[in-house]
Amino acid sequence: MTNRIETISKLRMAQVSSCSCLTKTPDADWHKEDCLYRVLTEAIAAVAVSHDLLESAQALSEAWAKFIDSFDYVPGIGDRAEDIEFREMARLRMAIAKALA
Ligand SMILES: [Zn+2]
Repeated sequence: MTNRIETISKLRMAQVSSCSCLTKTPDADWHKEDCLYRVLTEAIAAVAVSHDLLESAQALSEAWAKFIDSFDYVPGIGDRAEDIEFREMARLRMAIAKALA
């Protein structure tokens, strides 16, 4: 699989003076829909977003695995169900917060 960072930097290089609609602004929205500059800008955004999503999903699943592994205590008979649930939710929130930090 090609490194996405590399793909993005190649797309950025291709983007330099790629405008085919003669619009003089870096804002892609002002370029024609079939302008190469606009197409490349949208491609970069799509690759960058999916890269972020992929990294977040990976971090989340790692955090989830760590959270499951952290279950080393056995709830006692005296533990109230809502206390157990509260602790579990607190641990899960901490794991997710760490993964997204
Ligand atoms: Zn253009």
